[in-house]
Amino acid sequence: MERVLKTGEGAIAMKIDDLNKEIKQCTKCRLSESRINALCGEGNLSAKLMLIAQAPGEKEDREGKMFIGPSGKVLDELLEMADIDRKEIYMTNLVKCMLPKYRKPKQDEIGACSHYLESEIELINPQILAPLGYYAIKYIFEKYAIILPPKAEFHKVFGKVFLIEGKKIIPLQHPAAVLYNHSIKTVLIKNYRKMRVLFTDCK
Ligand code: SF4
Repeated sequence: MERVLKTGEGAIAMKIDDLNKEIKQCTKCRLSESRINALCGEGNLSAKLMLIAQAPGEKEDREGKMFIGPSGKVLDELLEMADIDRKEIYMTNLVKCMLPKYRKPKQDEIGACSHYLESEIELINPQILAPLGYYAIKYIFEKYAIILPPKAEFHKVFGKVFLIEGKKIIPLQHPAAVLYNHSIKTVLIKNYRKMRVLFTDCK
């Protein structure tokens, strides 16, 4: 059954629709040459919580949907353990097109693409931002002028909460981290559960 839109959501839905059309046709950087689908954000337009991943994976690129590959499975498990329903949240990527061979995003690619994320944050206006993994965290930290720790100490920011400009920012490990190192899963479960606490806290 279709969810009934709340007041104001209709206007936001139209703006998100326009934005998504732009994203799908975007050729502003080289990643447009190797992608199949440019991925738009997905989820609840009234979400209190926005998850920001780095970029789509292969399966996401093929099928044009967020978090449906192996890391999506891990994310679903983590969200379930944190008692958070995907339908409650909004999920998006810092870079909307797949990075060939899972390479790191280049600065010019982030520069070309990040205005889409900026628009999503402005339109959805979530109270909680959860950037996942180094590049998404770096971007959000720079946006909100939070000091980025040196790489050697970077792991210490995971699960910490920063209150800034009326938002709660909780940097988290990307779920894909579990695929490379299963032993960190317990830490991820603990950190993802903190999102639930912030969630309940929000009016
Ligand atoms: Fe456009 Fe972003 Fe895709 Fe580059 S990564 S082509 S800027 S949507």
